[in-house]
Amino acid sequence: MEVSEKAPAKINLTLDALHKREDGYHELEMVMTTIDLSDRIELADIDGDDIVLENTSGLIPQDERNLAYRAADLLRQRMGITRGVKITIHKRIPVAAGLAGGSSDAAATLRGLNRLWQLGLSLEELAELGAEIGSDVPFCVWSGTALAKGRGEILTPVAPPPPCWVVLAKPQHGVSTAEVFQALRVDRIERRPNTEAMIQALEQGDYRGICRHLGNVLEEVTMQMYPEVKRLKEKMQQFGADGVLMSGSGPTVFGLVDRESRARRIVNGLRGFCRQVYAVRMLGSNQPLLLDKSRTI
Ligand code: ATP
Repeated sequence: MEVSEKAPAKINLTLDALHKREDGYHELEMVMTTIDLSDRIELADIDGDDIVLENTSGLIPQDERNLAYRAADLLRQRMGITRGVKITIHKRIPVAAGLAGGSSDAAATLRGLNRLWQLGLSLEELAELGAEIGSDVPFCVWSGTALAKGRGEILTPVAPPPPCWVVLAKPQHGVSTAEVFQALRVDRIERRPNTEAMIQALEQGDYRGICRHLGNVLEEVTMQMYPEVKRLKEKMQQFGADGVLMSGSGPTVFGLVDRESRARRIVNGLRGFCRQVYAVRMLGSNQPLLLDKSRTI
């Protein structure tokens, strides 16, 4: 038996760090949404009890450090399963980019193995397991659009953005999320996003409001480390994106655009400055999972 699962990337429409907690993590408040840039995970039964990993990218670990491997291992332990599995990762999401590629691979592995092994676990249960692998994994288990609090694992569904285009530009280097958070001084943050206003704009389907309220307190920190991120943001604004922000801890910069033709123009303009440029659709609006507003995950 074999199953295939899509693992979409996310972007942060907002990211705020409220304070540093006693456990060393920052207390976060983020609005995240899924975009149509995805890895594909194939899961196949094999003889024996090994977890075998194959991937199309030379940039991610091929062993037990891979988050997809860890997801399979954790699920097997918790459910007392001894079956072997081959995990194949077709990588499209840029690595160490602020797009949660690894977390999404782990989440897709949990969802896919739940089907392959007919475990009957709910998404709530898979998200809870996912939190042990990484803070962004629970969101990726659900996908869609959500307000994330705590380390990112406490999720409340939010209305999806209206259909639009997302132009992404990823500088050559990757960024270590831990390093960026270490450099962040929460007491010195000068401009914070207005999370409430972003949620309101989403609820009202107010595209311009969404563009206006994009904000990420890590942007300043990563830009200090990598000035190229600032240059890319400026270029994206010059080429006419309606709203521009760095996603997560970066270094990927994204721009929102309402029409495909404009997205294509911006992509063409950016190609001279950056090798990894994409134009994709928002996916937040295609995911029914989070639309049941009565449920806090
Ligand atoms: P986030 O936005 O959640 O901080 P990110 O997009 O910045 O994540 P990832 O692409 O998830 O970063 O990769 C972070 C690190 O995790 C990489 O250095 C990589 O070596 C490791 N990693 C482990 N498994 C994977 C995987 N399946 N895909 C990508 N990276 C992985």
